[in-house]
Amino acid sequence: MCEKCGNFLERFRFDEREYFALLGQLKRLVENRTFDEVADDMPLEFASDRKNWPVEGHIHHVFVCRDCQRRLELSFDTRRLAGMWDLARADANELSGR
Ligand SMILES: [Zn+2]
Repeated sequence: MCEKCGNFLERFRFDEREYFALLGQLKRLVENRTFDEVADDMPLEFASDRKNWPVEGHIHHVFVCRDCQRRLELSFDTRRLAGMWDLARADANELSGR
């Protein structure tokens, strides 16, 4: 199992309070070069301020593990105030499509 992302492979759901905590945690993981952030709807630090949220929509951030290249996605529904951490859809598609 990958040492860097092995603790992040379980899908889980979270609420708004946990989302803010995850944004801070992931920002540190990008800064210490555990993950690269490869796609986002807005910078991580913007997502931690409700003023920047789309009125009705979703915020996504995609990360790549620097060791094994696995992609992980943080998504948050700003209307339902519910989010999910999971393998990125692109990887899931690759697994099922090839
Ligand atoms: Zn990894």
